[in-house]
Amino acid sequence: MNEHVSQEQFAEAALSGVTPALQSHLNGCFTCRVELERLRRALGSLAEDAQSAAARPEGFWTRQQETIAARIQSGDFRAPSAQHWAGRLAWAGALAAVILAALLSLRPDPQRPALELTVVDPDEELLLGVEQSLRRPLPQALSPGVVLVTERNRAARLQQASARP
Ligand SMILES: [Zn+2]
Repeated sequence: MNEHVSQEQFAEAALSGVTPALQSHLNGCFTCRVELERLRRALGSLAEDAQSAAARPEGFWTRQQETIAARIQSGDFRAPSAQHWAGRLAWAGALAAVILAALLSLRPDPQRPALELTVVDPDEELLLGVEQSLRRPLPQALSPGVVLVTERNRAARLQQASARP
């Protein structure tokens, strides 16, 4: 193997192990050793995040929903809570984006222009998506999101109304 390790080979090595041919290249190539180590570290921390999120018991989400409902009823509803909650839901999408970005950034192809990644606020995007689907039948799991969006919109209207003379 005379050429550097390809993106596909890096991904495969990070996920399922280094082949003998790859190992012999790595032995003689510092650049590729560094790249592989970088990808492994990135995937390792992602795996830890995934495990801690998956380890949450089902009751956690129910309590989360009840807490939100209670806060809305008592009028003690603040934007940071909504953002935190939405951030949890957006986690899966963000994870996919990070893996994709890590793979794409491994070795930019000189023949191709660098790929530009558009950075969007995942919280805002999620709330927008929930908002757009309000008129459609929703799976049960999304119902807390509808409560949040509805309440957020109501709060915004109230603010606008009270701001008028
Ligand atoms: Zn190399």
